[in-house]
Amino acid sequence: MIVTEMKPVDEILGMIEGEKGVFILCCGGCPEGYKSGGLSKGKDLAEAVGAKGVTVTGVAEIEFLCNKALAGVKLNRSREALRGADSILVVSCGVGVQAVGNVADFPVHPAMNTVSMGGRQGLWPGEERCHQCGDCLLDRTGGLCPITTCSKSLVNGTCGGTKEEHCEVDPKRPCGWLKIYQRLAALGRAECLKALNAPRDHRKYDFPDARRSTVLWALEVAAEETEEAVEASRGTDT
Ligand code: SF4
Ligand code: SF4
Repeated sequence: MIVTEMKPVDEILGMIEGEKGVFILCCGGCPEGYKSGGLSKGKDLAEAVGAKGVTVTGVAEIEFLCNKALAGVKLNRSREALRGADSILVVSCGVGVQAVGNVADFPVHPAMNTVSMGGRQGLWPGEERCHQCGDCLLDRTGGLCPITTCSKSLVNGTCGGTKEEHCEVDPKRPCGWLKIYQRLAALGRAECLKALNAPRDHRKYDFPDARRSTVLWALEVAAEETEEAVEASRGTDT
């Protein structure tokens, strides 16, 4: 299970500044299971976005956003709502945000940070990869992760070594930062490249050791929290 947490609302509102309409798309997989996201969080977000005067053209949930075929087919059902949107606010891990960016011709904004792949590595059928940096910047990179698509994990690229559109470290790979530039240019958001991205805070890369006593720690934490919630509700019942 991939462990995620919602970004602060102010950060999310900053991402959509200047936009008139947004579509909110939630992943019904890991964020629902870990109770960090899901449709209810998407609806909360819709209220916060609406309160800022931005039109929410729709809120939807798709079971697994990392499955691009599924995401593409189901997103197509929301095409009327998408017509009025400037962007898609994606409530999912970094993989889901990238997958939506790959199937939809829209700017994508990550509403969550990806904290960890959890006790077991998630499996997904696409090529999108996330390094769980805990401070997702897909908003500024056209929905392509620079940490995993650039051989040097640069957050400001290119490095200057790109040769014939390929990476100087691994000539078989297209240059990740060139792909980011091309995607941003196609979306009319090349100005994003003018802002410098802050270095990653490596303390956010992993969940604290104290919470990872076994490989199934993420499931254990979720179970403990469920037990606590049940206990608390018993307390209020009596
Ligand atoms: S920037 Fe990349 S590594 Fe960091 S959370 Fe987003 S997708 Fe994952
Ligand atoms: S050539 Fe491109 S992908 Fe390779 S290290 Fe430099 S910026 Fe990153």
